[in-house]
Amino acid sequence: MKFDTLKFADEEVAVLKNENRFLQPRVLQSAQEPVSVIDGRKVVNLTSNNYLALANDPKVKKAAIEAIEKYGVGSAAVRTIIGTMTLHTELEEKFAAFKHAEASILFQSGFTSNVAVCQSLMSSEDDLLISDELNHASIIDGARLAKAPRKIYRHKDIRHLTEILESPEARKARRKMVVTDGVFSMDGDVANLDEVVAVAHKYGAFVMVDDAHASGVIGKEGRGTVSHFGLDGKVEIQIGTLSKAFAAVGGYAATTKNLRDYLGSVARPFLFSSSQPPSVAASCLAVLDILLHEPQYLKRLWDNTNFFKEEMKKAGFNTGDSVTPITPVMIGDPVKAKALSNKLFDEGVFALPLGFPTVPKGKERLRTIVTAGHTVKDLEFAVEKFRKAGKELNII
Ligand SMILES: *Cc1c(COP(=O)(O)O)cnc(C)c1O
Repeated sequence: MKFDTLKFADEEVAVLKNENRFLQPRVLQSAQEPVSVIDGRKVVNLTSNNYLALANDPKVKKAAIEAIEKYGVGSAAVRTIIGTMTLHTELEEKFAAFKHAEASILFQSGFTSNVAVCQSLMSSEDDLLISDELNHASIIDGARLAKAPRKIYRHKDIRHLTEILESPEARKARRKMVVTDGVFSMDGDVANLDEVVAVAHKYGAFVMVDDAHASGVIGKEGRGTVSHFGLDGKVEIQIGTLSKAFAAVGGYAATTKNLRDYLGSVARPFLFSSSQPPSVAASCLAVLDILLHEPQYLKRLWDNTNFFKEEMKKAGFNTGDSVTPITPVMIGDPVKAKALSNKLFDEGVFALPLGFPTVPKGKERLRTIVTAGHTVKDLEFAVEKFRKAGKELNII
């Protein structure tokens, strides 16, 4: 097929290829498993966000299948028309309890949750959205859709955040919202949420924390960064995804009952995009049940995390400042990062290379995430291959 009118796409693709930014994802040919089949090879998979290894869990699948049998494959409506199903309200109630919040509201993804909250609450040019410089792309896009101006503070820099809160623009703002990732997705470090909350409240701002990589991972029973810092009842809005530790897809905002109902009446992704299929809500309910009653999943996740970090350090790799199951393997060169990833893949290990613009230039890396499902043998195998390939490429 050829359209003269789409010639620009050929040029754009050429530019991307030239800049090493053209993406051609590998294809997963099995379920998302600790050892998966990717592009025809069986590999130790260190790249998914399947923290608790529940994406292919029999109990979770059974819940989804039963929901399909009972309620069908889709809601065929947006929440505010007739797409609110029993399983959605049940999940919202149980999720609010899990987050120690009054209420919660479901969205189709973590991405749309951030868009929904930023756009709905920062709705006037008199508001001010204040955001950590390393926040996720969906927060940046949510901020772009908001009418409020935005100020960016240096990563976890409380002094800079304070300066912004003391600025004339902040002082005269109608509303101020401070937004931070709970766990930062590229480096695996944790926000200093206790300090963020203290300074935000001192200056009359409210806080939204995005726990996409924290929910089901850190805090008591995986309740997230608010629980991790003992800040229950002190953080106005907790956002997150149901696509990572929760293994399915969807997003949520846990907050007060009034704010939940306000979002349910004005948030555009809630009003204009259909609700989660019932099987997805059922899967998330099953994961919630596992988190509350089967602590061994979280324990295995953290045992594996500590083991892998330790062994990679022993091998001589720079694994950054991560304190979570996200372990970046810092390389600092896009060509080397890609070469390392390819070598590892040939040896049976998949770890994705990340470069600009996902991470800053000079901070190119392989990002690894271990799951509760990896065996010690899988991890030993992976470290051994890292060591071999790292030596061959003069990285260690
Ligand atoms: C993954 C991620 C999201 C997006 O979640 P989806 O459910 O995949 O849309 C949002 N915020 C952060 C911090 C994330 O890491």
